[in-house]
Amino acid sequence: MSSIIHENKIQETLAGIQPEDTTKIREILAKALEFRGLNLQETAILTTIQNPELLAELFVAANKVKEEIYGRRIVLFAPLYISNLCNNGCLYCAFRTANKDLKRRSLGMSEITKETDTLIKQGHKRIVLLAGEAYPHNDFQYILDAIRTIYEVKNEHGEIRRVNVNLAPLDAEDFKRLKDAEIGTYQLFQETYHRDTYRQVHISGKKADYDWRINAFDRALTAGIDDIGMGVLFGLHDWRFEILALLKHANYLQEHFGVGPHTISVPRLEPASGSEIASTPPSLVSDMDFCKIVAILRLAVPYTGIIMSTRETPQLRRKTFALGVSQISAGSCTSPGGYSDQNLTADSQFYPGDYRPLDEVVRDIANLGYMPSFCTACYRLGRTGEDFMCLAKHGKIKKICAPNAIATFAEYLNDYATEATKTTGNKLIAEELTRMEESERQRTEKLITRIQAGENDAFI
Ligand code: SAM
Ligand code: SF4
Repeated sequence: MSSIIHENKIQETLAGIQPEDTTKIREILAKALEFRGLNLQETAILTTIQNPELLAELFVAANKVKEEIYGRRIVLFAPLYISNLCNNGCLYCAFRTANKDLKRRSLGMSEITKETDTLIKQGHKRIVLLAGEAYPHNDFQYILDAIRTIYEVKNEHGEIRRVNVNLAPLDAEDFKRLKDAEIGTYQLFQETYHRDTYRQVHISGKKADYDWRINAFDRALTAGIDDIGMGVLFGLHDWRFEILALLKHANYLQEHFGVGPHTISVPRLEPASGSEIASTPPSLVSDMDFCKIVAILRLAVPYTGIIMSTRETPQLRRKTFALGVSQISAGSCTSPGGYSDQNLTADSQFYPGDYRPLDEVVRDIANLGYMPSFCTACYRLGRTGEDFMCLAKHGKIKKICAPNAIATFAEYLNDYATEATKTTGNKLIAEELTRMEESERQRTEKLITRIQAGENDAFI
């Protein structure tokens, strides 16, 4: 049995803290502003915040950390579901085996090409590939072929430059094959770190094995994948327990492999066809607690990106930008084939809360004063894993990311944007340039000049 998470210790930590100790909370918020992260005890203490004044202080601190480390960039991506075949019994998911109402589909390579082409034409440069845990002919080669196919699609405006994947745990050999396929991040959500809850909601299939899942990152890192993304499906068990366990898992990986998570995702249960538990979550997380989760994670692991999906509404997504979110999906579809055939929504994994197309989301981000980014430079220059963390910790990421974000946004505005988005976007870029220090402004202007001259994919 895996010994990464000691449930009793986490329960003891939570049980041992005073209810809302104002002095202690303020001390922890002050420490968080040194950008060195928080330990489990300090994180647990922040979860007790209820008082609106302290809550506002938590949010201000999270915003300061986010702006100092990431600036005002928001990186955009789209999920690409290639198959909803699945042998597992996750009670919250429409793809579970027992859901006989779901029309099953796994896309062939020509259909994956069509989906990719549609996403490129919308302006996307990075995607996360997703699938249920059952591959056609029971052959993992299907996934590898899909990744190669996606990278091969090129049209007049470009290509997908980074393919992240969110796939069921693999054995060591298949993780090596996945690495060789040149993925970006390997994402895997533990769903819940609480064993009993895990057992109750994963009733059949390989996913019922908690240990196989929690040990997956050990196998991935041993196989040479150095860029990993973690997550919890909020709503299954007490969120306070979940974030402490998630941090414990992240610390464990850092100690044993020298690499922490590149990203943390914060999916919250959404209604899914035929799933009772998805509509009535056993440990409902309110919007306010959800915002707290984002802010606390921002302070606890300042150098880890936080991903917000379209499960949430536009209003809530906007609010979380200021609390620490650095990456969002946009224009998402959770049914295989749904980008090129919009009648396929019946096959969705769950029902999103934000249906707006990419252009509208981009314009909204820019109107709020955040810089939409389509950058994929770090991954392509090999700045991943420990190298990325090292740059981030020395404050260099912001200096590199800001010019790259603007260059990729300028490219988006030239190639895909509506007139309204172009106007908003160009105004934002002009304002941002005036705020930059001289050398950074010059580097950024050079990149923009290259983009305006027709070059694609200019980055530093
Ligand atoms: N099938 C693989 C697995 O389970 O690891 C790949 C990922 S699955 C397609 C993507 C994620 O969707 C799951 O890890 C889970 O957290 C999330 N998910 C499933 N049902 C959901 C629901 N009803 N609401 C929100 N997220 C859900
Ligand atoms: Fe299958 Fe993943 Fe859905 Fe579980 S969450 S039923 S493993 S697709």
